[in-house]
Amino acid sequence: MAFKNVKEKPGEELSQTDMYLKTLSLHIIKDIYKTESDKAARAKLSYQDYLHRLIEAEVLSRIDRSINRRIQIAGFPVIKRLEEFDFSYQPQLDEKMIRELFTLEFLNQKKNVLLLGPPGVGKTHLAISLGIKAAQMRKRIMFYSAEQLTKMLASSEVSGNLVKLLEILSRLDLIIIDELGYLELTQKTARLFFQLIAKRYEKGSVIITSNKSFEEWGQIFQDEVVASAILDRLLHHSYPFFIQGKSFRMKNFNKN
Ligand code: ADP
Ligand code: MG
Repeated sequence: MAFKNVKEKPGEELSQTDMYLKTLSLHIIKDIYKTESDKAARAKLSYQDYLHRLIEAEVLSRIDRSINRRIQIAGFPVIKRLEEFDFSYQPQLDEKMIRELFTLEFLNQKKNVLLLGPPGVGKTHLAISLGIKAAQMRKRIMFYSAEQLTKMLASSEVSGNLVKLLEILSRLDLIIIDELGYLELTQKTARLFFQLIAKRYEKGSVIITSNKSFEEWGQIFQDEVVASAILDRLLHHSYPFFIQGKSFRMKNFNKN
């Protein structure tokens, strides 16, 4: 066995082990196996338990890394979590319903979440928190502002990559589209937006935040027909929330 050979040269045993671990990319085990073996000896752990500890540490760190990678790829502007959301500030918001969303059952059912309301009421906060939770559950997600997304769709059409892009976007578990309605779309980008929504319809979830009520969507898309075709598909299987409360950005201001 290789370890016997290594043992013949005093002082090289550990570095040879380190090298094997490095070759196998078992970096966490490489970092901890010596201290863990001391601990195991003191605790009189069995060889199996010691090995189990090492492998478990490696696996846990990989899960962490893959979640972090998912969060990075998703492109969140900031990190927000449900734990930081103060429901007492938005008393008319259905807390139970929101908490239920965080079971992510809506993703399995390919349902959509629509968060509508004026600025500062926590639409983006909730959308990001759901995205982070989805990343933790190993879902494939992307976060775009509506402007980013429509620009990306338009430039992919120009470069002849629209079909490919729509294909990639339709394979995601969740797309978050933030701030729909801050900018009006052109008729051309509205059609592209419709294509995306149609492609994901009943195949994958979308979360949309908007400061515009559904009645005003015709204005966002500059076309009532396109707007109602989009709304039709989005609303068919969806959880709409209308957050009517005060802006959290004004919280301290309101207190004074
Ligand atoms: P919106 O997208 O509705 O304009 P945001 O989600 O961007 O609002 O919220 C504005 C800021 O206030 C963010 O920093 C957000 O984290 C915070 N915020 C909003 N509502 C709450 C809340 N109920 N509890 C805690 N923080 C909140
Ligand atoms: Mg927002």
